[in-house]
Parts: sequence; structure tokens; C-alpha cells
Amino acid sequence: MTRQTKKRLGLLAAFTLILLLPVVGTWARLGREKCCAFDGEKILPIYRVRVVDEGGASHVFCGFTCAEKWITAQGTEPTIIFVADEKSGREIPATSAIYVRSEVITGHVSGNKIHTFENRRDAENHARSYHGIILNHWEQAKRSNSWNGTEQ
Ligand SMILES: [Zn+2]
Repeated sequence: MTRQTKKRLGLLAAFTLILLLPVVGTWARLGREKCCAFDGEKILPIYRVRVVDEGGASHVFCGFTCAEKWITAQGTEPTIIFVADEKSGREIPATSAIYVRSEVITGHVSGNKIHTFENRRDAENHARSYHGIILNHWEQAKRSNSWNGTEQ
């Protein structure tokens, strides 16, 4: 192998590494988003909550309870909160969601019993099926949430 060939291979390897950096960064971020930022529990897409802080950073949680505890601990108001529509898994603004507190626990660690829906009919079906009550907005869900009996 000539000196020039070695130099070309070195440049090719360096160029390839530079091209792969964004891909590696994306993989690393995706890996982090699989776990709740509050309790480390695995995040299921249909219960996912994303809070955008005042600095613009996103923090993802396994459900309503962990997101609410995290927000309270921060002591600042988030810029925006998104919740997953439990029926479709689609992310929707928390202000347009319909909340249901039912007997169904979404996370073993958090004990979350607050469910979020985009459509009132889906919320009512869940409430009827699992002895739930309809809560019309985040603050009402917050007051209704029992914190699994261990309020902090
Ligand atoms: Zn959690």
C-alpha cells in the first residue's frame, strides 16, 4: 500500500466518521427517550408525556403522574406540555386533551391512573369500561390524582 493510498483511506475513514456523527447522536437520544425522566420506567408510546421547559428542552415521561411530579419539583411553568392520545398514540397538546382517572394503572413505578384522550367518546368509553371519571383539563386531573397514596 502506497503512502498516498494510506492517506486517502485515512481521509475516507475520517469523512465517514463525520457523516455518521448525527446518526449516532439520534440513536443516543432515542435510547434516552425510552425511559421516563422522573422514575426511569420504560415509556409506552400511548402514555407518553412530553414537557418542553422554558429553555426549549424536551423531557419525556411514562405518564401524567411522573410529568406532574417533575413539573412541581422544577418550580417553574413549562412552555408547553404534550400528551399522547391513548387511543392512537398520537401526540396532542395537553390543553386539548380530555383526562380520565380510572382503575387502570399505566406504570408500575409511578402508579399513574390518569389517562389522556383526544376524543371525548374515547375518554367516555374508557371511563365507562374501567370505573373512571372524566376530568376536563390538566389542573383538574392534578387535583384528582391521588399520587398513588404517597403524596410528596
Ligand atoms: Zn415515570
